[in-house]
Amino acid sequence: MKPPICTICNKRFKPSEKQGLIRFKLSEKDKEFNKKFEEKGFVGHKAGEDWFCETHYKAALKYKHLSLAEAYKQINPHYS
Ligand SMILES: [Zn+2]
Repeated sequence: MKPPICTICNKRFKPSEKQGLIRFKLSEKDKEFNKKFEEKGFVGHKAGEDWFCETHYKAALKYKHLSLAEAYKQINPHYS
């Protein structure tokens, strides 16, 4: 698990009900990746989820039906 730093603006924050980890729709590749966690007991950051600060959390929630990569583009058009 990565520390709680907003993936959009790199702000570090304390997770709460207004800001935190959001899980997006998983691609087949993400699902494969996440299987490793269950099978081998990997510790780390799973695919398809990321941290969002209070400023970006609400926007991110709107796009959680998309994959993480697609959501990035919607939340931050300048993201590349
Ligand atoms: Zn942010």
